[in-house]
Amino acid sequence: MARHVIPISLILALLAGCTSESSPDPTVAQRSLLGTVLRIQAYGKPATDRLLNEVFDRIAEIEAKMSTSTQDYDTTELLQVNRAAGDHAVSVSPDTYHVVERGLYFSELTEGAFNVTIWPLVSLWGIGTEDARVPAEEELERARSLVDHGELELLPNNEIYLPKEGMGVDVGGIAKGYAADEAAQMLREAGIDHALLDFGGNILVIGNKPNGEAWRIGVQQPDGKRSTYLGILEAQDQTIVTSGPYERYFEQDGKRYHHILNSETGYPAEAGLTQVTIVSERSMSADALSTACYVMGLEDALDLVESLDGVDAIFVTDLREVYITEGLRATFSITEEEYRLAN
Ligand code: AMP
Ligand code: MG
Repeated sequence: MARHVIPISLILALLAGCTSESSPDPTVAQRSLLGTVLRIQAYGKPATDRLLNEVFDRIAEIEAKMSTSTQDYDTTELLQVNRAAGDHAVSVSPDTYHVVERGLYFSELTEGAFNVTIWPLVSLWGIGTEDARVPAEEELERARSLVDHGELELLPNNEIYLPKEGMGVDVGGIAKGYAADEAAQMLREAGIDHALLDFGGNILVIGNKPNGEAWRIGVQQPDGKRSTYLGILEAQDQTIVTSGPYERYFEQDGKRYHHILNSETGYPAEAGLTQVTIVSERSMSADALSTACYVMGLEDALDLVESLDGVDAIFVTDLREVYITEGLRATFSITEEEYRLAN
């Protein structure tokens, strides 16, 4: 198992201002999972390689239950659910049931902007796979008609039922958040008071820095280069989750098609935003909301986030205007001069 842990001596590019003078050396480990590189940097005695390996093993278990990638898996619980659509209910683990249940909750809350039954569209576009292509109108129309979270049935005994053949569940928009919440719980239970988890740009911090200061997290620029950031956010015991079109996309005939889909149009969402960052306590909620807000566009997304307790957001528009919610006035500042605070 130890072979999975790759200690890295570099301080995370995202982490500004954490020098060895101000903090003791962390234990750092990374592993490729959930389609990205996961990194954990944890402080204190309980932060052993063994513990971090156990955390990554737990996330590998989550992936093996909930992935819908037929490239990576012959079968998973969710592939079984999707293959049984229109025929029978499938009993899944409490883990998978919980994530799908939360997915349904956010589908309802966001009126389908986040849609946990998006799978027919996701699989049709194939974005992130070798088969990515722009589908024909008829294909899109059929797939759209099969995306309907109102028809997803969560039955007793952890059974999930999709009433029409071709329907399917996809938790790609919340799985990383769930994994981060689970990882944080394991680390806290092991006695870790200070840690930074970077799951492919989705950040979760436990406590503050060991020297007592807040973590300073770089909010990335929406040009896809994770190492460049547009502003700094001070955080403690929080998660910072970002959705953007640059994470996964393909090009056809000179046009880019990205992976966040609008279930109403069937196409990649185009609502004037280039990036959404959600700041909250729970990473799974933040993950669902970042995807939803990207689809909804600035006005509706601002209204939604302001209506939720304990949730804040940073929105970047295609004019490089940055909008933030009230809760971030004291903790977020723009550092890159091409961007301008617009509210
Ligand atoms: P994220 O990177 O968290 O914004 O999630 C994007 C991933 O969520 C995609 O790769 C799909 O697997 C899935 N997805 C795409 N569009 C939606 C949507 N409208 N609602 C829910 N999940 C989506
Ligand atoms: Mg998301």
